[in-house]
Amino acid sequence: MSLTIAFDADDTLWHNETLFAVTSEQISALLAPYAEPESLHRRLIETERRNLRLFGYGVKGFTLSMIESAIEVSDGKVSAGEIQTILEAGKRLLAHPIELLPGVRAALEDLGRHHNLMMITKGDLFHQESRIAMSGLGELFSAVEIVSEKNQETYRRIVRRYHLDLDRFVMVGNSVKSDILPVLEIGARAIHIPYEITWELEMAELGQPDPGRCRLCASIGEVDQAIRAMFQLSST
Ligand SMILES: [Mg+2]
Repeated sequence: MSLTIAFDADDTLWHNETLFAVTSEQISALLAPYAEPESLHRRLIETERRNLRLFGYGVKGFTLSMIESAIEVSDGKVSAGEIQTILEAGKRLLAHPIELLPGVRAALEDLGRHHNLMMITKGDLFHQESRIAMSGLGELFSAVEIVSEKNQETYRRIVRRYHLDLDRFVMVGNSVKSDILPVLEIGARAIHIPYEITWELEMAELGQPDPGRCRLCASIGEVDQAIRAMFQLSST
């Protein structure tokens, strides 16, 4: 049975959240004279939440929200030099080389022999395009969709645009909120591969999904088997 399997990119194909965590820690240390790391962190998450609809997802929004948080926690005392250090940390994140998760290329090559593969990622268009190019994985996907949000409407639009059969569409990703729940809600299937860290604004509860529609994998190497099991279950 030939399916369309769509993959999330950040923290599903390559490391991402760990880089943000390291950068956040460095900035936390820089701003230690003004705020405890925990209170800076809370402020940053709140600022990012507030700014999402203005900046969207990605490094640029993170950097701007970090600067805003720094100004707030320091009561306006943060120096131009410190803001410059934050900007430079953001630029380093943007230029950071792509580090694929283990087994990604081999798993995609295997799956691509039998199935149509897509990538659906959200974030900054320019940065995601450059990461896809750096990853060297681009040619393994028949289509790449860089979207501003991953909700039911986004997935419905993609399904319509590519004339996909909902019953033969599987989304694979690390985020329950973005990659799993909306896909199950529109009647397609999903495979959850948790990453070592989940960004707080991506946290959601999955509950106990129907194993014929949703599976949990420890790594991308388990996806093929999970798909076979899922489709056998649902066809009986
Ligand atoms: Mg992800």
